[in-house]
Amino acid sequence: MALLFYSQFDDPADWGRHLRDAMPALDFRVWPEVGDPRDIEAALVWKAPEGELRKFPNLKLIINLGAGVDSIVKDPTLPEGIPIVRIADAEMSRMMTQFVLAAVLRHYRDFVPFARAQRERRWHYIHPREAATCSVGVMGLGSLGGMAAAELVRQGFRVAGWARSPKSLEGVESFFGGEGLAPFLARSEILVVMLPLTRETEGILDAKALARLPRGAKLVNVGRGQLVDEDALIAALRSGHVAEATLDVFRTEPLPADSPLWDFDQVLITPHLASVAIPRTAARQVAENLRRVAAGEPLLNVVDPQRGY
Ligand code: NDP
Repeated sequence: MALLFYSQFDDPADWGRHLRDAMPALDFRVWPEVGDPRDIEAALVWKAPEGELRKFPNLKLIINLGAGVDSIVKDPTLPEGIPIVRIADAEMSRMMTQFVLAAVLRHYRDFVPFARAQRERRWHYIHPREAATCSVGVMGLGSLGGMAAAELVRQGFRVAGWARSPKSLEGVESFFGGEGLAPFLARSEILVVMLPLTRETEGILDAKALARLPRGAKLVNVGRGQLVDEDALIAALRSGHVAEATLDVFRTEPLPADSPLWDFDQVLITPHLASVAIPRTAARQVAENLRRVAAGEPLLNVVDPQRGY
């Protein structure tokens, strides 16, 4: 089987090595060295140029090289009827969990006021609180949010989660759907956003939703920038309603140099890297899906383009 690889962010040599380990007979082709387009039966892609995937008449499977599928499902030129799968793997969830934990601890353990005090050569004692008094809300309880919520429970936080459907995760209070959103936000001192970007979730954290957070709330966004109304967030940071933030994703990436978000010392900006697909472990899952598509068996981690995730 010939697999086309396209990504501006991931190392094709690393992927090629691990994929061949998992599937020695694989014909691995790295864009733009495609060869005969009729040979290509599967594509492992991250943000492929629009129209590119239409060039392969024998394409049977599209594999999104990552967890978030918003850029692929909104591509109007995507060939119809070809299944789309994504990478959802425990190592990727672990990497995200580490990032979320670091961000939550930064807010919970007052690292922001300590950094400020240090710059002013000021000894600033803030008596530490017990984690059980700190309410953390996790928006999105999928393969990433579920593991992060469990880790926050392990750390002793008061954890709630919000998803489309009810969840029973040990130690996590479950909120769901439209009705669950307002009470969920109202109890989230630290809000961690790990939703996919879909028609339903775009702009979900607008001025009204941010106003429902308790005053002085802290925001961690590792989902997608478009989930948050950036102007409303900037206004909330200026008023202090949102006291601090850790932002890994933005409406426009790279974040433009003139964005006011750069100016807040209480905002930590990281360049969209909270978690990435790890070839060593994810290659096995890609190979398994290639085997399944060839055998006509049900695929793993299938994306529903209508639902958008
Ligand atoms: P999943 O598809 O496994 O989980 C998505 C979760 O969001 C589910 O719990 C789902 O609810 C919930 N959800 C979806 N739509 C709604 C809605 N309308 N209302 C309420 N809840 C909703 O995704 P992952 O956990 O794998 O990934 C989440 C996102 O994280 C990705 O889509 C991507 O955008 C982002 N990401 C960011 C990275 C980074 O480096 N910053 C890296 C990787 C991913 P239900 O369970 O009920 O279906």
